[in-house]
Amino acid sequence: MATVFEKIIAGEIPSVKLWEDSECIAILDISPVNKGHALVISKKCYPTFTDAPLETLSHMMAIARRIDAKQREVLGADGTNIMINNSPASGQEVPHLHIHVIPRYSGDGKTPVFSKEAYSGDEAKEYGEKLHL
Ligand code: AMP
Repeated sequence: MATVFEKIIAGEIPSVKLWEDSECIAILDISPVNKGHALVISKKCYPTFTDAPLETLSHMMAIARRIDAKQREVLGADGTNIMINNSPASGQEVPHLHIHVIPRYSGDGKTPVFSKEAYSGDEAKEYGEKLHL
């Protein structure tokens, strides 16, 4: 079944488009964290970040950076969250690669809150060894 983003790309569902090229589109998120919250969406449907080629990610990041600059310039954003939810366990709802670009304002209270853990003993060293590239 086609994702909502495939339907948007095909023009079957309306969207407010900020950018389009052969690799991706950028649109306004329908339920913004702050107004102007944008999504950079790959034209090809990669279900997750993990599935996408580096060239596509790199190109989409370049577009995200332009949106970040525009949000600062035009909306007066003090900062942005550039986010990719990667697989359902992380909160990804639409299985089609997209980057969130969320304009943020000092004191807007919208920061997502992660509960944090602590390493005990040699755990940090062990994780470091496991994850070392
Ligand atoms: P994620 O949880 O990372 O998969 O984010 C999916 C995002 O898509 C959510 O922030 C939704 O608000 C947004 N979204 C879902 N449907 C639409 C739509 N028709 N137009 C624009 N944004 C949408």
